[in-house]
Amino acid sequence: MTRRRIAIIGGGFAGLTAARTLRNVDADITLIDRTNHHLFQPLLYQVATAALAPSDITAPIRWILRRQQNTTVLLGEVCSIDASRKVVCLDYQDMEIPYDYLIVATGSRHAYFGHEEWEPIAPGLKAIEDGTEMRRRFLLAFERAEEAKDNAERNAFLTFVIVGGGPTGVELSGAMPMIARRALLPDFRHIDTRQTRVILLEAGPRILPTFPESLAAKAQKSLEELGVEVRTSSMVQATLPHHSANYSAFRWITSVECWSSQISRFPGIPKFSSPATSRLYHAKENRRCQALRRPRCRKGAPPRGM
Ligand SMILES: Cc1cc2nc3c(=O)[nH]c(=O)nc-3n(C[C@H](O)[C@H](O)[C@H](O)COP(=O)(O)OP(=O)(O)OC[C@H]3O[C@@H](n4cnc5c(N)ncnc54)[C@H](O)[C@@H]3O)c2cc1C
Repeated sequence: MTRRRIAIIGGGFAGLTAARTLRNVDADITLIDRTNHHLFQPLLYQVATAALAPSDITAPIRWILRRQQNTTVLLGEVCSIDASRKVVCLDYQDMEIPYDYLIVATGSRHAYFGHEEWEPIAPGLKAIEDGTEMRRRFLLAFERAEEAKDNAERNAFLTFVIVGGGPTGVELSGAMPMIARRALLPDFRHIDTRQTRVILLEAGPRILPTFPESLAAKAQKSLEELGVEVRTSSMVQATLPHHSANYSAFRWITSVECWSSQISRFPGIPKFSSPATSRLYHAKENRRCQALRRPRCRKGAPPRGM
């Protein structure tokens, strides 16, 4: 009997866990990722605020799985899955990877709620490139503030708005004042980095909506002690280029806006060669969105999709 072939798309926590779990299985496993590294996303906000270097939170997937003899790692972007022929199609040289079993672990991206045009203005935080781009904007803002012609311009450069009061937004907004007001303070001559404003916006009535209310209240208190301005029930209405943004009744002139409304959809695989796979994908996507709209997850409910 020929050995079974298992294809895993994605080398994040889910894809790696699947591969490691299958390490003693009598099968040929192919793990495909569009990057060559695994990213430890929980510390990405520290890269974004220049507390850690990108290499501190990434490791080559090939290196992580180097001792796993039944597994091959491939670098490539999966652009489609042909379920009728049981092949995964890569962007590189029209390569096709045949499989008997397929695990799709491509993660999620940020949700802009139909306003994708806001992404260049307020980038999200999910990949290492997002972290380095956010860090570039964050540090550049202090450089520009140092050279500002007047107070209005200086204040604009020292104002940071973070959209989304989930865990990422809370972590990011908590880290920014500490770096700005302490670490950067002695480095500048013409600005007082303690004047930095960090504003955290959340559309819902409280931050950390998936956490118990008591913890969310404590988190808000801690953020406020750090000097973060937490604004709940503040829905973004517009976000414009040239450092201008409108939120509910407020309007802030900002230098850096960050988007941290994390989960929207399975991002990676835009095209499905087979209608059956397409239906499967969209069914999963819908279930995921519905699950997110539910106020609380049911304890002990079994996962419905892989
Ligand atoms: C800033 C931040 C902080 C977080 N903090 C915490 C925390 O403190 N605690 C916690 O439990 N969780 C935290 N999370 C959430 C946690 O990191 C994620 O839930 C987890 O990483 C999801 O793992 P995953 O494997 O499903 O997806 P991912 O880690 O996103 O991995 C998906 C992989 O698939 C690859 N991929 C995608 N599309 C394709 C394609 N078409 N072809 C090939 N490869 C593709 C990507 O390159 C990526 O490597 C945080 C997330 C973020 C962003």
